[in-house]
Amino acid sequence: MSQKIIVIGGGIIGLSSAYYLSKSGYDVTILEKDCFANASSKGNQGWVCPALHTPVPEPGLVGNSLKWLMKKDSPLYIKPSALPSLSGWLSQFMKYCNERDFKSGEDALHNLSQTTFELYDSLTSEGLEFEMYYEGMLFLFLNEKELQQHINKFSERSNLYGHENPIVFSQDEIRKIEPNVSDDVIGGLLLKEQRHVNPESLSNAFINKLEDSNVTLLENTEVTDVELDENRVVAISTGEMKMEADTFLLNAGAWSGKLAEKFSFNLPVQAGKGYSVTITNPNLNFSHPLYLGDTKAGVSPFKDAVRIGGTMELSGINSKMDKNRIQGIRNSVAKYLKAELQGKTEVEWSGMRPMTPDGLPVIGKIPNLDNAFIATYGNRSSIWLQFRQE
Ligand SMILES: Cc1cc2nc3c(=O)[nH]c(=O)nc-3n(C[C@H](O)[C@H](O)[C@H](O)COP(=O)(O)OP(=O)(O)OC[C@H]3O[C@@H](n4cnc5c(N)ncnc54)[C@H](O)[C@@H]3O)c2cc1C
Repeated sequence: MSQKIIVIGGGIIGLSSAYYLSKSGYDVTILEKDCFANASSKGNQGWVCPALHTPVPEPGLVGNSLKWLMKKDSPLYIKPSALPSLSGWLSQFMKYCNERDFKSGEDALHNLSQTTFELYDSLTSEGLEFEMYYEGMLFLFLNEKELQQHINKFSERSNLYGHENPIVFSQDEIRKIEPNVSDDVIGGLLLKEQRHVNPESLSNAFINKLEDSNVTLLENTEVTDVELDENRVVAISTGEMKMEADTFLLNAGAWSGKLAEKFSFNLPVQAGKGYSVTITNPNLNFSHPLYLGDTKAGVSPFKDAVRIGGTMELSGINSKMDKNRIQGIRNSVAKYLKAELQGKTEVEWSGMRPMTPDGLPVIGKIPNLDNAFIATYGNRSSIWLQFRQE
């Protein structure tokens, strides 16, 4: 009889874990407290960019960000009322903003994302149907100094890690490849091997595959308690129901820290909230996903829609929509476009990235438990394939 595994959390990490576990012959049940792929895995930008394998805490970030921290429409915002509960996590985060930790984080993320494209390709060859785009990632700049810094950074990292070299474009060249970009954009660079996906289509592809397999998918099923016996998890409770399994895998995204406590494990995960607006039948179309280098916002073109998004808000676990921050994204994007971006419908969204203080993913066995594992991560280089061995 095959081993029974319960996967907790039905975002992209839980769904993809369930897929690979089922493929390997395990008897898998996946539990989701809400609807599948309705949290952070829903309205994100969908970038699959292993070349951007940098941990969030970087040297100089603290000084550079101080001017943003309390500004409600800035790329990084810390809600003052959340500061007391964030202070421990923030002080750890700040300690990681140094050259040595940044470099070792960058190396680790590079190693982990080496097979990203190969794995995405294997998904399509295994019959998962989703929107995947191969046009690369185009960075746009309003400021010569920012452009030069990015050229230097990507050229240096191409030497260090063997990534593609950036292709640099003048103002005129940018306007030829992206005619809807404003005259204020002074130039840009393209990383042409990077990709993007429509995240909803990717999640749906996994859900469809899991539904066609022997995996049990349970929505509206929140894990509320965990029964431990010495160094083993015996069962989990979902309200009234108790479920037993041989192995348990925790994939609860921004909620992982809270849930880890029930596994007697202290996991410093905070929520890094971001926002997006998805505009259907847009008046402006783009051939590439755009990273707006000066304002740190993103634009992702999908079939029949464009999504703008970004920002990092530390305000604890909540899905409240802060209209100022959404307006901040709209304003950031407007600076780069020749006209106001409009469409038939506009859907505003917020999602919480699971954030660790060192900016690295967490995957592996939960310490002191023989049959419980965890995988969580909230950065952008390859959605589910990264981990840190404790
Ligand atoms: C604005 C924005 C843009 C982003 N852009 C990109 C990008 O371009 N590329 C990229 O790779 N990443 C991007 N990300 C990050 C990406 O969205 C996350 O890394 C990814 O979605 C995390 O997936 P997850 O499965 O861990 O989390 P989630 O999708 O949040 O899933 C966790 C699930 O666990 C469930 N859960 C929690 N607690 C329990 C419980 N007790 N019982 C049962 N279920 C539970 C939740 O309901 C949730 O559905 C972006 C994020 C944001 C906010």
